[in-house]
Amino acid sequence: MLHLLDQSAETLQSWFTAHDLPGYRAAQVQRWLFEKRARSFDQMTDLPLELRNQLAEEFRIWSAGVAAHQEADDGTEKLLLELADGQRIECVLLRDDREHCNMCISSQVGCGMGCVFCATGLDGVVRNLTTGEIVEQMLQLQRLLDPAERLSHVVVMGMGEPLANLDHVLPALALATARGGLGISVRRVTISTVGLPAGIRRLAEMNCQYHLAISLHAADDALRTQLVPANRNVGIAAIMAAADEYFEKTGRRVTFEYVVLGGTNDRPADAARLVALLHGRPALVNLIPYNPVEGLPYHAPSAASVSRFADILTDGGLTVAVRHRKGDRIDAACGQLRR
Ligand code: SF4
Repeated sequence: MLHLLDQSAETLQSWFTAHDLPGYRAAQVQRWLFEKRARSFDQMTDLPLELRNQLAEEFRIWSAGVAAHQEADDGTEKLLLELADGQRIECVLLRDDREHCNMCISSQVGCGMGCVFCATGLDGVVRNLTTGEIVEQMLQLQRLLDPAERLSHVVVMGMGEPLANLDHVLPALALATARGGLGISVRRVTISTVGLPAGIRRLAEMNCQYHLAISLHAADDALRTQLVPANRNVGIAAIMAAADEYFEKTGRRVTFEYVVLGGTNDRPADAARLVALLHGRPALVNLIPYNPVEGLPYHAPSAASVSRFADILTDGGLTVAVRHRKGDRIDAACGQLRR
């Protein structure tokens, strides 16, 4: 059986054409899935019964089950999904208000980048997610909304390195942003990467207008390689060159994420190096106070050290935001997602 959410608008259209069915039926099916939040073919009541049966024989809509569902008192909800092969992934819904609901979705089972402070990377990467599995996370999260709430943003910042799985991530984001899909503005899509220059260049060439966030965590190669082992074969200079190209081609300012680890990368000298690295670049720095992970030897920074770090960046002319830790009570915050 084919996974319906794995089909692009074009392949779905071709299926209808091949079965001598009118093409507008494909758009009807997509509307039921993305706009009317249908859970089964039975609910697609403006399709003829015979067609609904035919679709149910050839396609399954869902490939994953919800293995666990947690809710925090700040409105954050986290789903643990069990995929058809038994692998597990997590995805998160973060609410600001009814009009602003943000999804954080995963791109791989596990992650191969090995960041030493991250729960996801502890066991390495198992496999890439399919396009359908990525889309399914979005629809499972959409199901948690009240009818009056609206998905407004999507962040590919859950488990995995999205630029290592662009062939599946990009078609999923195309459905998230399509008018017949979830209709999220392309400018409200963020792809978060550890910094794979070839992937960044591919996005730049596409001039896709997605927001790019690069997880830097250190401004010198020695410390960065210690924190993000994948840096060893890449290096900060190559990442910055690709980031500059992204800005030149798309006109979109790049965000640099910096997880602040108490006593590790929060010294004044670390902040001064970051100022020197980003000087003259149209960048935004997101400081993310570390969310401790059980079993790992890294600590949350003190409020004083985060504010001293932020002050040094601001005095150095950088634009800085400190991201507060939504979802940390249900281990749904950055770097806390597990299988
Ligand atoms: S922080 Fe991100 S890139 Fe690093 S191991 Fe965790 S999921 Fe992978």
